[in-house]
Amino acid sequence: MTLLILTLEEHALDPRLGYVFQRSWLQPYESLVSMLWKFAHMNRLPGYLVMSQVCGHPIDPYEGTVPADVDIARVARLLGITRRNVREGISRPTNDTCPFLRFCPSCISTAYHSRIFQLERHVRCPIHGDALRDVCRRCGRRSAYKLDAQLLDAPFRCKHCRSCYSALGYAPPTGYRKLGQKARAAVTRAAIG
Ligand SMILES: [Zn+2]
Ligand SMILES: [Zn+2]
Repeated sequence: MTLLILTLEEHALDPRLGYVFQRSWLQPYESLVSMLWKFAHMNRLPGYLVMSQVCGHPIDPYEGTVPADVDIARVARLLGITRRNVREGISRPTNDTCPFLRFCPSCISTAYHSRIFQLERHVRCPIHGDALRDVCRRCGRRSAYKLDAQLLDAPFRCKHCRSCYSALGYAPPTGYRKLGQKARAAVTRAAIG
């Protein structure tokens, strides 16, 4: 596993090399996991390579790290977004922060995961009203809420069995739609409430 610990200098993913992340893909309170899922998927980048870019120090990409441990400036540069955008995707730890990835199947089908889903005070998705889940409908396993190579290799899917978290699959990469006004208001209320 040691051989896979890469440093930024060895394999820099420079946006000038054509890696893209469109700002228009970014939704309010979108989690860092969701942003990196889109980035890896759209650029067909293996998860271990993306993981090698997100911290200021070498890490084992398969061991991974919690979102709060990333280097904000480095991720902002990688995605071509502001540091504030990155910070908005990372929750501060609270008493009710769930250690497992929680998701709304309807949001997953539009390629969206919000950091507010991680707070157990939210039982349902504020946008759709669906019960938030942390268990894969196919294999029944949960995934730690942690960035790692295996997770980034399975965008909007279960990292264990690769089954999509939504029975509907998810929108094709070019089909990401912005949340409508009502949805934005709902997610903002949940985030600040
Ligand atoms: Zn939803
Ligand atoms: Zn599964």
